[in-house]
Order: sequence, then C-alpha cells, then structure tokens
Amino acid sequence: MKLKQLREEVIEANLEIVRRRLVLYTFGNASGIARDEGLVAIKPSGVPFADLRPEQIVLTDLDGKVVDSSLRPSSDLDTHLELYREFPGIGGVVHTHSTHATAFAQARREIPCCGTTQADYWYGPVPVTAPLTAEEIEEDYERNTGRAIVRRLAGMNPDDLPGVLVAGHGPFTWGASAAKAAFHAVVLEELATMAVLTLALNPAVEPLLQAEIDKHFLRKHGPSATYGQ
Ligand SMILES: [Zn+2]
Repeated sequence: MKLKQLREEVIEANLEIVRRRLVLYTFGNASGIARDEGLVAIKPSGVPFADLRPEQIVLTDLDGKVVDSSLRPSSDLDTHLELYREFPGIGGVVHTHSTHATAFAQARREIPCCGTTQADYWYGPVPVTAPLTAEEIEEDYERNTGRAIVRRLAGMNPDDLPGVLVAGHGPFTWGASAAKAAFHAVVLEELATMAVLTLALNPAVEPLLQAEIDKHFLRKHGPSATYGQ
C-alpha cells in the first residue's frame, strides 16, 4: 500500500470516530499498517482532529521507532503496536472512550450477546480484559494494555471478536483496515447502548441461543458466508 494512501485512510478513520461522536477532545486515536513496508501510521499526539494533515500522521516501525514525522505519535502507540505484532491479519486499530462501551469497561462487565445486531459483528459477548496489576501500570503501561488484550483473546480468532473492552479504561477495536476498525468502534458503541437499555428493562435477560449467534455471525463471516458480501 502506498504510504500516502495509508496516511489519508488513517486521517479519515480519525475523523470518522469524531463525526460519530465517539471521541470528545482527544480521547481517542486511529492507526493503520502497511504490512509490506512494516510501517504503522498513527495520529500524532496533541494535534486537534480537525487540523490533521497527512504529513502530520506519524509513521513508525513495529518497534515504535518514528521513521517519518516531526511530531510525537499518540501515547497509545505501544498498545496499537502490540496488537499489530500479535494479530498479523489486522490492518487497523481504533481506541475511543465512547460512553456506553466505556461504561461496560469501567463496570468490568462483558457485553452479553442478547441480540442479532451483536451476533452480526461479534461472535458472542464482547470480552473485557483482566485489570492490570500495579507493576503492569507502573512500567510499560501502554504495551501491557496491549498484552492484556492479547491474553484475553488467547485461543480465539481476532476476526471473530473485532474488539474488546479494557477493564477500567475503554474499547479497542480492529479490522482489515483503519476504516474497518473505525466501523467496529461505531458498531460497538451502538451494541453497548442497546445492552444498557436491554439490561435496564430486563436485568435477568438470557443471551441468544448459540444457534442464533451462529446463524447471524457465520452467514456474514463464516467460510460459507452468503450474506452482505
Ligand atoms: Zn484511552
């Protein structure tokens, strides 16, 4: 992928999460990766979203070494890098503090899969990570945040669960591109909003049957997907 195109895609993903009201002030960031070049493009730290220009998007290698930009990368870079290293199929990562998804993260609750809207995009509940220890917070905090996400998804396919809630923090989502990662951030906030209302109306609600989760997820994402392709 051309790096100019990658930078433009990353700007667009950053603007999308603002347009969809997932981000107040600078509470969020989007990145993308050019796998062939091994370069990650991420929002710079301290630049308002509305002012972002392509040359300000920071390019780093997978170790976080800045290769092109006079600006500093977002402070969440090390979390994004951990996900790119451990999930080789993903092309974009988005982090927000969107209200309802963050409420679940703060409550340290997964989002139960109570409806087909969720089963269309997440293959079951949206997981929540274990809280970080004091040592993990004091040293290498951002990378340890990424490690907590990777540990939570151990044995699972990141394509089946395109985002998780970091306990006490907020959602991280991913996808095949920065645009897809932003899309999943928007969908996740909607799922969390629906779940808050559902649990308010019926705190004892049962999750969907696995058969219905399978029906919805696999027809869109399974090997024999036939719907919405
Ligand atoms: Zn954050």
